[in-house]
Parts: sequence; structure tokens; C-alpha cells
Amino acid sequence: MIHYKSLEEIELIRESALIVSRTLGMLAEEIGPGVTPLFLDQRAEEFIRDHGADPGFLGLYDCPSTLLTSVNEQVVHGLPNKRPLQDGDIVSIDCGAKKNGYYGDHAYTFTIGEISPDIQKLLDITLECLYKGIEQARKGNRIGDISYAVQQHAEQHGYGVVRELVGHGLGKHMHESPEVPNYGKRGKGSKIKDGLVIAIEPMINMGTRRVKQLSDGWTIVTADGKPSAHFEHDVAVVDGKPEILSTFKYVEEALAKKVVT
Ligand code: MG
Ligand code: MG
Repeated sequence: MIHYKSLEEIELIRESALIVSRTLGMLAEEIGPGVTPLFLDQRAEEFIRDHGADPGFLGLYDCPSTLLTSVNEQVVHGLPNKRPLQDGDIVSIDCGAKKNGYYGDHAYTFTIGEISPDIQKLLDITLECLYKGIEQARKGNRIGDISYAVQQHAEQHGYGVVRELVGHGLGKHMHESPEVPNYGKRGKGSKIKDGLVIAIEPMINMGTRRVKQLSDGWTIVTADGKPSAHFEHDVAVVDGKPEILSTFKYVEEALAKKVVT
């Protein structure tokens, strides 16, 4: 059953989502060659707690970390480790926070040093997929319209769309109804109405859509070892239209500052 949120609840989800946005912004300053995902994880936990929230993932389904850090061929659910990030890597950082009983859940794929043009294109297209999906999150549409928009754009560029993991409703629980797949048919699935709050999160592979899970029971990797990208926003439907509750503003500001200095 879908729980449609009141405007008051949407504000509480926004507050948690923005704590995650600020966390990602802080991480954008810290991240670079030689930095370990484990260090970023510790910094993120401190930052979230300093902002009066709890890490959203830590302990959820026995998750051992605040962040899920997925490098290169890792799609999602990578566990932070001590392997330093290297020039040419990409890393999806997925982060959750819970404040006042409501969750935010938000992800960005960062680049480390110089990356190849074909990987940059994968990131650009995945981000476009996210916004094309968000654009469909409007009253009168169905979840399948979001799914279709994401899938079409990715496949047009020859990319693989991961099926096994999906976006989701968000609120008092990290994962609520409805599921928001990144593939599907127009006009199918639940109707979109005011008060719907969902996390839209395309996971797009450069090669095959097929994935497998590593023996750690968490990390999802591409079956062909090619890179994968992941971006996620929290979106509420208000007055019939999509409103993005999270923001990449803090990440973009931090990255822009790094280019200048
Ligand atoms: Mg997430
Ligand atoms: Mg999510």
C-alpha cells in the first residue's frame, strides 16, 4: 500500500534529504586520489550526527556502514573499505539519514582525477536519465512512465539498465511502496498522485545489464566487469508536479571550488 504524505511530512523528508545533500557536499571536498572509502564513511557518520540526524543505512538490514561506496564495476551496495581511490576511478556514494522519524536517501557518482571520455559519457547520460525520470513524476502519470523514460534514454545510448534493483517510496521507512524500476512500460504501474514521495535512482551499466552479487553478501557488480553509474534524488509530487527534495547543489559547489584552486 502506498502511503501518500501530507505537506508537513514532505517537509520532514526534505529536511533529512538535505542533510544527505550536505553530507555529499562535504564528501565532495574530501574525496580524491589516495582517499579511502572507509575514511569517507567515518566523516559522513560524524557529519550526519553533528546535524542532529542518524545515519539511515547503518544497522538497516544489518548494513555495517553509513555510506555504500561502489567503485567502477560495482553498481550499488559496495561496503566502504581501505582501498585508496585511484586516478580514473568512479565511485557511487549512496547515503541515507533519518531525522524526526523520516528518511532521506540520495546518491551521486564522483569521479577521481582524470576519467576516460566514455566513462564521462556514461555519467552524463545516467544523470540525464534521472532527470528524465523525475520529469514524468506528475499527477495523471503512472510509475511506468518514469521507468520507461529512464530505460529509453539509457538504451538509446547502448547502455544496460539494471533490473534487479529499483527506486522506491520513501518516508518513515527507507523502502516503501511503490517500487520504481528503471525499466518498464508507459501507462503501467501505480497512478501518481499528490503526496507521493519516491527515490528515483537509475543504475546504468556501460555494457550488459546483467549483475551479480559478491560473496560479501552486499556488493552488486556488473557481470561483464564494465563500469556502472548511479544517481539518486528524493522527489515529492506537489500540486501535480515533481519537486526534488534533495539537491546536488552542495556537491557541485564543492567540485567547482576544487577546479579553481
Ligand atoms: Mg540510496
Ligand atoms: Mg534508494
